[in-house]
Amino acid sequence: MDFLRYAERSAALVNAELTDRSALCEHLADRSWLHRSVVDGDVAALQAFRAELRPVFEASDDGDVRLVVGSLNDLLAQHPVTPMISDHDPDHLHMHVANRSASVAELLIGEALMGLATLVCDLGATRLGTCSEPRCDHVFVDTSPNQSRRYCSDRCSSRANVAAFRARQKAVREQPEGGAPAAAAAAQ
Ligand SMILES: [Zn+2]
Ligand SMILES: [Zn+2]
Repeated sequence: MDFLRYAERSAALVNAELTDRSALCEHLADRSWLHRSVVDGDVAALQAFRAELRPVFEASDDGDVRLVVGSLNDLLAQHPVTPMISDHDPDHLHMHVANRSASVAELLIGEALMGLATLVCDLGATRLGTCSEPRCDHVFVDTSPNQSRRYCSDRCSSRANVAAFRARQKAVREQPEGGAPAAAAAAQ
């Protein structure tokens, strides 16, 4: 298991539209073998779980390390994880989170928590964020080398750039003739 990938999946889980079973299957589009195990209870359990998970992203975005660590530890205690060594690739033994008898919700919750816990231990507790685009409430995992990510997606990044460009143009248009307002004030 690639823990970073599971941390990223946990952000996708918070961002997904989880209205019903088919929406959950859509969220699991790249894991079609799970679709037939999805039941209504998984949707409800995951909706409840991500309401608990969003504050972890918000605390990390605020730089509140203690709250991130405390919240993740609380969630790990509430949702015990069953790690197992998997040999589906015999040349590359690795950890999976839960055994086959776990529900889809338990599996995704376990993966999310192990992914986030590993991320926090390996890269620090301030690597989670909420999108800076004012109309977007998505969360993200910041794996950039200098920890500079501000938006959930390229789409939000370019929307914010366009908005900033328009704001600059508007400021230029509204400047009085004969120079910047600051220069005019200084001349008085
Ligand atoms: Zn595997
Ligand atoms: Zn966004």
